[in-house]
Amino acid sequence: MKNIETLADFDSEFGTEEQCLHFLTNLRWPNGYRCPRCRHDEAWLLNEKKYKCKNCKYQTTVTAGTVFQDTHLPLTCWFRAVWYISSNAEKATAIGLQKEIGIKSYRTAFLIFQKIKYANAHGNSLKPLQGTVEVGKAFFSIVSCYVNIAVEIKNGKSRYIQASLQEDLNTFIERNIKPQSIILAEGWSGSHILAAKGYGKKSNTYSYSFPYFKKARKKLESFLYEKSNGKKIQDKNLAESLIREFCQKFNAKIVETDFYELLQKMIQVKPITDLSDKK
Ligand SMILES: [Zn+2]
Repeated sequence: MKNIETLADFDSEFGTEEQCLHFLTNLRWPNGYRCPRCRHDEAWLLNEKKYKCKNCKYQTTVTAGTVFQDTHLPLTCWFRAVWYISSNAEKATAIGLQKEIGIKSYRTAFLIFQKIKYANAHGNSLKPLQGTVEVGKAFFSIVSCYVNIAVEIKNGKSRYIQASLQEDLNTFIERNIKPQSIILAEGWSGSHILAAKGYGKKSNTYSYSFPYFKKARKKLESFLYEKSNGKKIQDKNLAESLIREFCQKFNAKIVETDFYELLQKMIQVKPITDLSDKK
């Protein structure tokens, strides 16, 4: 996938309806068409958008069942809106978006804005943490065991968080953090093993105070206390699912700054019926 940095990049990749549709098709069906009803892989193409399953005759489109469903706006507009939001992150506004995509109606711009934000919050980003990441283990008395926490730091802020119960720290790092990342970890004995796999460890962490890790630990701890009304959580599966819920909630607040990741979320998330842009 091409890196989209300038408007010229954007226009050459997604300047036409066909380009956008082609891109969405590959995103939705990376291994070719799949009938959403019977999973059959052959269809008649009724027009440039509509597919009819050769097995069960069910008709569908690439955008059916996604946030793009029933839209009256061209996909080029949507793509441009996603690009605007991903490149402006928290600074993006509905008015800014209206200007960017050049539409008359503020209401329409507002709805597009809401839908993209909704997809951002509800789509599942499986992207591992990257860049500079604080990692550590902390004992949580509420669950009576250790919890691994990793926090991605970007521009002086916590970005994504991942956490899990008492897993081996190396496994946790490999599972949740991209190689080539800079790992800030206290007293981490297995660093040489992962260094061989491309993970970089910053030296001189002895005087480093791990502020992002500490903040995340505090937040996760109070989340667990709140969820259990202060009672100890004995069931490890419950604890694990609460920890997942916390990470999901925390990560949902961050606006995806990767254009392709945000588009991926738009395809994953079911249509939002009460946010229709129909006239
Ligand atoms: Zn079918």
